[in-house]
Amino acid sequence: MKKVSFNGKEYVEPDMDVQRGFGILDVYSFRFYPQDKIIIMSDESCSKFKCKKCYTIEPGSFPENLIYSSDKKKCSEIFRKIMGGEQSASDNVRSYDGRENYRISMAVLDKDRNGCATVVSGMIQNLDAHMRMIEHVQLLTGDYENIFLIDFEKNYIEVFRTQDHVRDRYGDMLNENKSFEKIMAKYIKDNVVDEEKLEMAVIFTRKNMERELLEKKIFTHDFRILRDEKTEHIRIKVVNLSDEPDNLTKAVIGFANVSSEKNVELMHLAYEDVITGGRNFSFFNESLKKVNNEGFVVTLDIRSFKIVNEICGMSKGDLILRNVSSIIEKYVDKVGFYGHLNADHFIFFIDSLDEMLVNNILERITENVEALVALFEIPKISVYFGVTKWRVGMRTNVAISEANTAKHNIKSSSVCNYSFYRPEDMEKTIEEKKMEDDFDDALKNHQFEVWYQPKFSPEDGQMIGAEALIRWRAKDGHLIYPGSFIPLFEKNGMIPQLDEYVFRTVCKQQKEWIERFGKTVPISINVSRASLFFDKIVDTYRAIAENIGVPAELVPLEITESVAETNEVIRDMANRFTVLGFPIHIDDFGTGYSSLSALNMMKYDTLKIDKSLVDYIGNASGDSLMKHTIALAKDLGFSVTAEGVETEEQVDFLKEHACDSIQGYYFSKPVCADDFRELLAS
Ligand code: C2E
Ligand code: CA
Ligand code: CA
Repeated sequence: MKKVSFNGKEYVEPDMDVQRGFGILDVYSFRFYPQDKIIIMSDESCSKFKCKKCYTIEPGSFPENLIYSSDKKKCSEIFRKIMGGEQSASDNVRSYDGRENYRISMAVLDKDRNGCATVVSGMIQNLDAHMRMIEHVQLLTGDYENIFLIDFEKNYIEVFRTQDHVRDRYGDMLNENKSFEKIMAKYIKDNVVDEEKLEMAVIFTRKNMERELLEKKIFTHDFRILRDEKTEHIRIKVVNLSDEPDNLTKAVIGFANVSSEKNVELMHLAYEDVITGGRNFSFFNESLKKVNNEGFVVTLDIRSFKIVNEICGMSKGDLILRNVSSIIEKYVDKVGFYGHLNADHFIFFIDSLDEMLVNNILERITENVEALVALFEIPKISVYFGVTKWRVGMRTNVAISEANTAKHNIKSSSVCNYSFYRPEDMEKTIEEKKMEDDFDDALKNHQFEVWYQPKFSPEDGQMIGAEALIRWRAKDGHLIYPGSFIPLFEKNGMIPQLDEYVFRTVCKQQKEWIERFGKTVPISINVSRASLFFDKIVDTYRAIAENIGVPAELVPLEITESVAETNEVIRDMANRFTVLGFPIHIDDFGTGYSSLSALNMMKYDTLKIDKSLVDYIGNASGDSLMKHTIALAKDLGFSVTAEGVETEEQVDFLKEHACDSIQGYYFSKPVCADDFRELLAS
């Protein structure tokens, strides 16, 4: 517990954990010591309200800058009540400028022998901004013991409420602002029973959670952990806190120990499913254990089921589930068995290796489920399936996660509603997870290398520039190319760190080369779309270049064409870079929706024509397209670089049409820093 001294005495500060959790809910805490008339604000409160940390008060003179003058009376009333012996008191007041509404509440934490309050916990809650979020959180707080908030944008986790043993164990990690995935990975590794580890790891990847939360808003998962050599049943519930559809910025995740509930459930239910009245998962699981030959395990999911629940109510939803269960029973019972997994998920086994038979069954089930729409007058629903081959001895959980992986591949497909599992899918998921885990260390240990691909003048063959291209040196020494990690890092929000690393590395290199050779060429750096969404990037890059001492014109920035064209924010960002003297190169021009007229709106420095257009050279219409593109670009004031130039014919053509610079294997592949230094020196 943190203490602060004031007027010669020590006071305990507001609970840090609580404040951390509340911070993102816009709730600010303070402590009130009635007998000394002292208020201690939490650090967050101080920075929010720009107020002092400690106050001596007369009742009613709550910190300046906080309360609308005519509401001060209400405030003194709260203090009066507490000091008059009430256990708690609260009221709504306006902020000092009258613009925001706050709720001030106080509750007595401790009393002296005479029953007078000695320590009071206080809270100032912004009622407007996050009211809905708090409601959501409270939905969970009732029966969940450990609650956290995940911030998907900032990629970290905040404690809302935890039990002591969790804090003891994970406190450090939680305080270090580690990413949710990292904490979860440790949790799974340390606690979850072996046979469920893999499935859990897959379910709680950021990618998968995002998918679930965008589609369903809420999902729960039950699993088993081993604690003191005893198996316990834990339930996790995750709720997307966003009000808007297709948006996910924050979520609440709650953990509850449901062991007693589960044991009762297991004893009473045996094999009947409470919701559907059909078979449950235990039935499926037990039946599968008895199978001695290969077959197919299929998982089924209902698209748009949550809409049925929302519009028609839960009981109608359950009615639909009962019908789906009977449909599955009708088509599967003769050739296998099934069970209701949870929510709108079912699973079944088909005791055959005949893929045609599987297709047939899936089609029948699909038709029958779709017919429920008219029958029960419900919004349109449909089903989709993931299929995996079952091998003798295979664990149920592995089969489920394989089938689910296949199912996820076609989740948003409108043409196809089933997919067979391919081992590469799971390998890819695991590999991606490993890459994410290794990222921080790789960055720290300089496993990312910057390579350089020179750009040449078609005029005289002189090297006039270069592009910095990242490579990842794996632990065994082999090189990993950006195609296999950039898209992943763009998706999971790690790319800004990597882009900045490359930028800094190139700046340092430039500085070294200038000092050594007295000359260098501009080296352009790729800036991904995700990086450009951070407002501070302009300042950061400017500061890096300035501190290292490299003129901006030596480190141009490459931005992809579709990005530059479509987004105001990004165009504005590019503008600010230009003003600071960083040349902007429009990358990959010719892929996507190319539009030179749109580029006219901005004075960028260079247009980089993509390899796919360069490859057209030699074909009559391709020649004409290239010719016009170059001419128009130059007319708009761009310098033109052609990318991916591989043949002499292309070089001749580009020279003839006054292209300014050529990058491609014809002259040079990307080379490592040492080789590039030789090129510079020569
Ligand atoms: P890009 O910016 O279009 O980079 C050009 C790519 O084309 C490079 O691939 C380069 O090696 C390749 N290339 C150049 N000349 C030729 C040629 O004549 N023939 C063929 N077939 N290919 C040629 P690389 O290095 O694999 O990079 C792939 C992409 O990864 C880059 O495409 C860029 O979008 C991204 N990337 C690379 N480094 C970074 C980085 O530091 N940050 C970000 N955000 N993206 C990067
Ligand atoms: Ca590029
Ligand atoms: Ca390019």
